[in-house]
Amino acid sequence: MSDKRILLRGARALTGAGLQCSGEPVDLLVEDGRIGAIAAAGSIHADAPAVDLSNRLLVPGLVNGHQHSHEHFQRGRTENLPLELWMNLVRTRTPVLLSPRQIYLRTMIGAIESLRTGCTTLVDDTAVGGSIDRERIEAVMQAYEDSGIRALVGFSMMDRPVIDNFPFADESFPAALAAELRAAPRPSSQDYLGLVTDLARNGHHPHQSRVGVLMSPSAPQRCSEAFLLEIRRLADELCLPVITHVQETRLQVVTGQLFFGSPIVEYLDRIGFLKPATSLIHAVWLNPREIEALARSGASAQHNPWSNLTLGSGVQPVRELLEAGVNVSMGSDGSCSTVTLNMLNVLGTAAGVAKLRGNDPTRWLSAREALSAGTQGGARALGFGESLGVIEVGARADLFACRTDTVTFSPFNDPVRQLVYAERGAGVDFSMVEGRVVMREGRLCGIDEAAILKEIEHEFLELSARFDEAEASVAPVLAAVELLYRRSLQVGIAADTYPARLADRGGCA
Ligand SMILES: [Zn+2]
Repeated sequence: MSDKRILLRGARALTGAGLQCSGEPVDLLVEDGRIGAIAAAGSIHADAPAVDLSNRLLVPGLVNGHQHSHEHFQRGRTENLPLELWMNLVRTRTPVLLSPRQIYLRTMIGAIESLRTGCTTLVDDTAVGGSIDRERIEAVMQAYEDSGIRALVGFSMMDRPVIDNFPFADESFPAALAAELRAAPRPSSQDYLGLVTDLARNGHHPHQSRVGVLMSPSAPQRCSEAFLLEIRRLADELCLPVITHVQETRLQVVTGQLFFGSPIVEYLDRIGFLKPATSLIHAVWLNPREIEALARSGASAQHNPWSNLTLGSGVQPVRELLEAGVNVSMGSDGSCSTVTLNMLNVLGTAAGVAKLRGNDPTRWLSAREALSAGTQGGARALGFGESLGVIEVGARADLFACRTDTVTFSPFNDPVRQLVYAERGAGVDFSMVEGRVVMREGRLCGIDEAAILKEIEHEFLELSARFDEAEASVAPVLAAVELLYRRSLQVGIAADTYPARLADRGGCA
């Protein structure tokens, strides 16, 4: 359904910045991709096709601050490895080269799961491999075009070899292996910047097109300072949002101290990298000076609680960030570590795991705060301001509906808590992006989901063994990284860093 005007009839809705639930059902008139009117059910008489949404709750579409489509074929293949070890199984020493069609199918896994679980905007920080191949990149963009989701695609940019992201690399890696890893082909910084500039200027600016691009330097320690500053300059010139992974783990704080003479957020503040529409992904291990820098600069902290649990990274000091006035958004991270991109799971986890911090229950994150971060916070972090992530007149019509005649909502007491703590997507059966219906009565409108899943199953008959081989090639890399991982645990970090992990006994680690 692609009519310019659509009437959504008879749902209860979470409206406005406060996510207040309309007690009685309402009608929503959608015009030209925006919400044109909200009024009591039956009171809008418009010459427009209508969708009956009775027994549904209408919710602003969830914004997934980042995932990685290059991980979707590896979901469920790893467990119980900390980030620095696990990441070598994603970017393997011997990569698995996929065809453009396989990349299209792989990307579609994330798009389908996202729409089915209430997400209408996702950021995809995807790795391009050893060189930039436009046909493969077009395959990613086309999957998002076809699925109907709003997508902002970045290319996991780095201009340093992965081995040089780590402290103590030369002491830990055998010389021949280190030389091999440093010699592996990778795109140049100009290749990356040329790609993003070209796409942004030719139909993929995220604030003008549903499928757009953004700047995604993978992490500050993976980029030279000159590259980071060029990314900053170009993002400002093109008006593009920026995301980068920062201080997900304790080892990354140690890395900052050894590489930059301070934790990484302090470094980014010093070089002028922090600005609005700039998201620091994870931001788990922070000290008060870094939180102050985020608040002062207008940069966002992106909370990825489920990823941080599955990789054992720790728990973000989300209350301290909110109290300082930092915009907090939510993300799933990639499905090789998390197995799922389900943002309802992310929100429930955020509100749940926050209760491990401190003994003052009034400072624990609430379901409403988690949902607000997963909608309005996500929109602000990507530079959409107040025009996305909210159901109100004038906002972009990105929303979803879940059935309320289900056990999750019976009885119907507090829809926000029941949504965040209990709904995981089983009841989500309607989704709209930019005023276009992309899922109706549980069926995705733009694609043949069953055929795509069947094709993936067929492709994986051959791919499975190639992934086994690629993962086996990593064994000597893992042995070296384990050495530097253990060595880094012996290096102290600033005493006022917020504790993020529990120790085996006697306090925090
Ligand atoms: Zn990530």
